[in-house]
Amino acid sequence: MSEYSSVPILPGATIGILGGGQLGRMTAMAARSLGYRVQVMDPDSSCPARFVVDACFEGSWNDARAAANLARGCDVVTLEIEQVAIECLEAAGRYAPVRPGAAMMRIIQDRILQKEWLRGCGFPVGEYRAVTSAQEMAEAISMLGGRCFIKSAHGGYDGRSQVKVGFGSTCDAVEAWTMLGQRPCVVEKALELDREISVMVARSPRGEVKSFPSAMNHHENQILVWSVIPSSVAPEIEAGAQRIAREIADGFQLEGLLAVEMFLTKSGELLVNELAPRPHNSYHASERACVTSQFEQAVRAVCNLPLGDVSIVQPAAIVNLLGDLWLDKEGQPREPRFDQALAVPGVRLHLYEKHQPRKGRKMGHLSGVGAIPAEAVERVLEAKARL
Ligand code: ADP
Ligand code: MG
Repeated sequence: MSEYSSVPILPGATIGILGGGQLGRMTAMAARSLGYRVQVMDPDSSCPARFVVDACFEGSWNDARAAANLARGCDVVTLEIEQVAIECLEAAGRYAPVRPGAAMMRIIQDRILQKEWLRGCGFPVGEYRAVTSAQEMAEAISMLGGRCFIKSAHGGYDGRSQVKVGFGSTCDAVEAWTMLGQRPCVVEKALELDREISVMVARSPRGEVKSFPSAMNHHENQILVWSVIPSSVAPEIEAGAQRIAREIADGFQLEGLLAVEMFLTKSGELLVNELAPRPHNSYHASERACVTSQFEQAVRAVCNLPLGDVSIVQPAAIVNLLGDLWLDKEGQPREPRFDQALAVPGVRLHLYEKHQPRKGRKMGHLSGVGAIPAEAVERVLEAKARL
């Protein structure tokens, strides 16, 4: 246990966040509501968090000096992106506790180490091979049955740094190896998914653990489209998912948040897909669905405060708004019809103040509530269709 493990960091203190994207922004907004001061570090000086924080330090994900400058004025440092270099976490750690810590981040930011850790601890994962050459990749693809997801060991989100093979396209191992930058990869057998769920778990330095009811997540082209809390999976699946998430949090001695993405296969197996040690897109609806949002829980966890109640208040869903909505069929700029969307009962708009819409870029989301989860989903989809 660290020297800080029993001391709460009280409102009025300053929280540093490595990363000022939408996750950092929404965490900062929750922190401000609690009376904290917030500063962030981001490569982009006009990042989404910029508009809601006390200070923004410009620095790339491997700029240890910028990370140290951020941490110098902070009482605690957290992160909103897992690709921050370990040197940055270590540099920040000389001035303030960094939560989650470098030891866990080292494992999570490398897909190969992450999978090995999960498998080594006995958590269920799908079949995969770690590969370091085109030839190994070809062998892995054929051993895993030909239909695979190939994921670069480092970097990648929203399906980027990933290639699918065996889905009717002609992409083979040599091409995939080149497309992914000729770097170590994980080759995963493509699973027949019944559905995808995630569980957000929080653990504080003093060892308190709370996991949110699972969310159900709908992806298209490997990007999350909509998500709903609660997930309505069978009680025994829910219990298994909760157990897995909490055991992973304890296994890492997590300090902060961890989203555990899981697959429920058509044959009824519950498998861990990947881990995200930060707020997660699939829990944006927690702002509407739960007594405590994931963003407030992040603040409570890293500040070593009592964790908030995660019970459901009402079912809630979100749908992501990608940059595509700001472009017409000819690629010309257009303004989405927010007034139309907001006329749908129970729907709210969340924009991240990203000034340049690009195809596939997450610009914001709509959230909605309903009497049952399906109604919440229906309402956000209806609202999005009106945009
Ligand atoms: P990212 O870091 O981009 O979220 P993921 O590994 O979570 O990467 O993959 C994105 C999505 O692609 C998953 O949520 C799922 O829909 C699909 N996917 C990934 N791996 C597999 C797999 N082995 N079998 C089936 N679908 C997969
Ligand atoms: Mg994912």
